[in-house]
Amino acid sequence: MSLSFDPDRLDLPQGHFIAGRHVPTAGVLPMNRPSDGVEFASCPVASADLVDQAVASAGKALAESGWATCAPRQRTRVLQRWADLMEEEAVRLAQLEAICSTRPVGQLIAGDIAVTAEQIRFFAEFADKEGSDLVPTGADSLGMIVSEPYGVVGAITPWNVPLSMAGWKLGPALAAGNAVVLKPSEMTPYSTLFMAELAVRAGVPAGLINIVLGDGPTTGAAITAHPDIAKVSFTGSSGAGASIMENIARSGVKPVTLELGGKSPQVVFADADLDLAAHAIATSILANAGQACVAGSRLVVEERVAAPVLDVILRRMRAVAAGPTWDEHSSYSPIISERQRRRIDGVVQQAIEAGAECLTGGAAIDHPGYFYAPTLLAGVTQDSMAVREEIFGPVLTVQTFRDEEEAMLLADHPVYGLAAGLFTRDLSRAVRLSRRLQAGTVWVNRYSRSRDHILPTGGYKRSGIGKDLGREAYLANRKTKSVLINL
Ligand code: NAD
Repeated sequence: MSLSFDPDRLDLPQGHFIAGRHVPTAGVLPMNRPSDGVEFASCPVASADLVDQAVASAGKALAESGWATCAPRQRTRVLQRWADLMEEEAVRLAQLEAICSTRPVGQLIAGDIAVTAEQIRFFAEFADKEGSDLVPTGADSLGMIVSEPYGVVGAITPWNVPLSMAGWKLGPALAAGNAVVLKPSEMTPYSTLFMAELAVRAGVPAGLINIVLGDGPTTGAAITAHPDIAKVSFTGSSGAGASIMENIARSGVKPVTLELGGKSPQVVFADADLDLAAHAIATSILANAGQACVAGSRLVVEERVAAPVLDVILRRMRAVAAGPTWDEHSSYSPIISERQRRRIDGVVQQAIEAGAECLTGGAAIDHPGYFYAPTLLAGVTQDSMAVREEIFGPVLTVQTFRDEEEAMLLADHPVYGLAAGLFTRDLSRAVRLSRRLQAGTVWVNRYSRSRDHILPTGGYKRSGIGKDLGREAYLANRKTKSVLINL
């Protein structure tokens, strides 16, 4: 069966999703398809009043459904059905993701959708395996650490991998017994809306998942400041993360987890499997056209092996072909918007004017939509904007080193610490340097998260606070109460 589809004929979910129903609402923000630039729809903006309705619906569903207090295995079963349904409805889910995002439809079913369904199953399994504890407090007393869900939690997600991000937020929150009010990016809301619809079909009580659409300053701010939202989980840029912290601090006190930006180094030593390293690095910067928080956008390579590594990367970069996300044969992603493409090009041109050598790319691709050519910049220094700023596009910088100390100096970033790659066959160096690298994830002789949901993901420094995935993400959705009983 063909996955390709006609973007002008796809039936789109309408409006917000509150209390288990779509709430058709007039659109306000124009939406352009990244693959051809056509304005095809508009996204509504939920006001503070509408966010209030969504929060009330979540609170009511929690109170009436017994989701937080039922035998936890019941939550596991429902969430597993939801994951199954996502796989059964994978074609529509993939098409709703592909129409407005940068994700090619041909990569979604075995990729994002399978991984997201598996993550939901992973978190579902925690529901009856993590809980309260009796603790030793002496013969005349009984100590208990009681674990409880927060209640209604808020979640805000970005546009770069919309389905996965919704899964990261909804899976642990629901498994832990909470209700959720989630705002997807105003550029890519449709797959998240359909996921919520599928959840209700799977038996998640109506009202437990509410999707409100809108921009950051109106809808996002109303979520973070809402007094009945007990906790906020955010994924997006470091700038927005900081303003969310400010907004929360002004309106009250509540826990917030922040998954933010990155500028991750890929450190290659001469003793590495150079072919493996070069392909891992090329894949990482080409995937989603570099629009990934963990994109390995800074190559730091030992001087004497730079040439063979760059040869492979350049070959891979020059081989990409632009094609719309709704064609199942397309593999190279467009940039999300014309504005973002101009920003990417601005940083590249500034680097070139400052003396960088552009080994390939450095310009938009001549094709409808917002495609940008994979770009490799040499001759950059630690203080070049291209090395310091998160570009969020298919732009790789390369710097060379002569010894381990120099490698670590170049790998370190003053602001970001999301991920790092390390390529070496020397096991002792791999262990030593993986401890030294200031990043929330260090991949050795690979550069991908793959399906290892057990590993928490999150940033050091200004790349974030708290973790998504892993047991930590589940526990972040529960609070603990200490009870001490005098016997
Ligand atoms: P963004 O910060 O512009 O927007 C993210 C989301 O936050 C959107 O839904 C947006 O509407 C909302 N938002 C923006 N300002 C807000 C505010 N003041 N209050 C409340 N909500 C607000 O980010 P983006 O451009 O959508 O996504 C790209 C960024 O996301 C990159 O920096 C990337 O590194 C980061 N990201 C991080 C991870 C991670 O796991 N660390 C994963 C994916 C993306």
